[in-house]
Amino acid sequence: MHGPHGSLGIKAIPEVVMNWGSLLLLFAAPLVGSLLALFFRRQSEQNFSVVLSFSGAFLFAIVLMHLFPSVFRELNHAGFLVLAGFFLQMLLEQFTHGMEHGHFHARRTGSARITALIVGLIAHSLLDGFPVARFDAAAESHHEVLYGISLHKIPEGFALASVLIASGFGMAVTLLLAIVLAVAAPAAALIGNHIGQLHPETLWVLIALAVGSFLHVTTTVLFESEHPSHILSLKRLLAVLSGAAIALVI
Ligand SMILES: [Zn+2]
Ligand SMILES: [Zn+2]
Repeated sequence: MHGPHGSLGIKAIPEVVMNWGSLLLLFAAPLVGSLLALFFRRQSEQNFSVVLSFSGAFLFAIVLMHLFPSVFRELNHAGFLVLAGFFLQMLLEQFTHGMEHGHFHARRTGSARITALIVGLIAHSLLDGFPVARFDAAAESHHEVLYGISLHKIPEGFALASVLIASGFGMAVTLLLAIVLAVAAPAAALIGNHIGQLHPETLWVLIALAVGSFLHVTTTVLFESEHPSHILSLKRLLAVLSGAAIALVI
């Protein structure tokens, strides 16, 4: 039969190794947000809606320019899966109350709610990691998707730490949970990378679900950070336009 090295399975499928710098960025982004919330809470909240608008517009443009075309090219039922991801995100927000888009509507929260919130946010963060597994493997030189997702994770981390502080958690627990959350997306990128080598189509299915989730998160943040009567402040207009413009040129 086959010798130890001669069989079919070991044949040269080039292994796509993840870029460690990308994983580090994906880990650091939500942590930076959490640290901002811990140390500069008051100052950062003032500029928060501008940051939200910028990161929302940036990721929205990345979704349309890079993720949509790839997902629709790779999968036959991409539309269905993106829609499923959109509704999955709606479901997750029943637990997270919109923390993925940097909102913390429920300020003071009991511990059962906090557990649900953390679990929901980790589930969402796993989705955040899957596209990076495909778009940021070492062989690739385009990092737009990574930048879009990382940028969106800064408000995510900020919202998490803000809610934990407001709910009476201490600095140590807040930091610990922020780190747990920060690990989720890079871990999903590694898992996704592994899945992608065994079953490329399964990874694309996960990416399509993530794209649906991004569509929900980014449009929600754009609409919610809007003035109730749709008056666009110059600051926000510039934030939205520059977010989309930078996504177009990188
Ligand atoms: Zn996210
Ligand atoms: Zn919201």
